Amino acid sequence: MDPIWLLLLLPLAGLSGWWAAQRTRAQGVDSATSKALPQPYVRSINFLANDQHDEALDVLVKALEDHDESLEIQLALGTLFRRRGEIEKATQIHQSLISRAGTSPEQKSIVLFELASDYFKAGLLDRAENLLLELGVTENFREASLRLLVQIYESEREWERAIAAAEILDEITSVDLAPQIAQFQCEMAERGLVAGDYAAAKDRAAKALKLDRNCARAIILRGRLEAFSGKHQKAVATWTRLCAERPEMLHEVSRLVQTSAQSMNDNEVYLDFLRRAIAVSADERLQLSLADFLLQMGQSEEAEALLRSWSEEQGSLSGLHRLLEIRSVSGAAGEVSGDYQLMRKVAGRLLSEQSGYECRFCGFQGKSMHWQCPGCRHWDTTTPRLNTIKLS
Ligand SMILES: [Zn+2]
Repeated sequence: MDPIWLLLLLPLAGLSGWWAAQRTRAQGVDSATSKALPQPYVRSINFLANDQHDEALDVLVKALEDHDESLEIQLALGTLFRRRGEIEKATQIHQSLISRAGTSPEQKSIVLFELASDYFKAGLLDRAENLLLELGVTENFREASLRLLVQIYESEREWERAIAAAEILDEITSVDLAPQIAQFQCEMAERGLVAGDYAAAKDRAAKALKLDRNCARAIILRGRLEAFSGKHQKAVATWTRLCAERPEMLHEVSRLVQTSAQSMNDNEVYLDFLRRAIAVSADERLQLSLADFLLQMGQSEEAEALLRSWSEEQGSLSGLHRLLEIRSVSGAAGEVSGDYQLMRKVAGRLLSEQSGYECRFCGFQGKSMHWQCPGCRHWDTTTPRLNTIKLS
């Protein structure tokens, strides 16, 4: 339950008593005969009804901080403080609860977990990890502790530990963590690549694909490793798998395919890849790559015809922009009027605002591709933002 509702529900009786006592003292009213709700409670409800959550909390927190010592209320307060970023206050509450006399072992475990969460939020990862490892041996907190430990190891980039914790979590819960563990294996594969340990990188990429056969990152890595060892045809075949498994990621490998095709001195390999990719993906950058490659090969008429038909038939702004760019660069004097130049600039600006990547889970947008979303920390949820501006 959300802490704000817990705060509203739990203290009603206690707060009523406290508030009635205040009224009795102040006004000489018999508390037993007073049926009025406590004022802080009423004010909080009013704030909530008007969607003023922060104001509602302020009133409740102030009333409860000094007058309600029950464990549930103090825990709810601590959680709220943590959510509001007031970590020091949350930590103080939880530390004082630990040393409170008469706390049962189970209650102490609850408080320790909350304290570990405070430390995690404050970036004190070692302290959080120690508490969680201690808590993890108790059955009731095993799953919650492992979940937080995985997050800690992710933050520390301790991938081996993250894999070990996630594997246990995968066994004891119904949630399928294989795609996430595959990402951790990919992290290790990239580490191997950077260190020049291709055998280890290959082993990790294979493990990732065993866990998640649709893991785009592992498919890309496997292809890169094959290309590194000179097996370019095999690499292109591996990357082409994305046509079926993850078409939205095809542009991420188009440059790699082009380089391998160059190494094989076979332009047709790259052209074939682009045509197959265009057939299954809505990513207009692939069509631009095809037009650019035709231009590079000196086939400017074919490139312009492609862009023109693409602009006319699909109403593509990207296609029109590139066509205007080509006309501008080729300096076909007289054909490129001032209005055309202006249109090119406007289209370019619109496209630039749209380009980049977006997390399909939280909507985080950025110019770079992230395997782990910087916004919500989910893995493999970031995909290219497709240009959706159409002229017709
Ligand atoms: Zn996200």
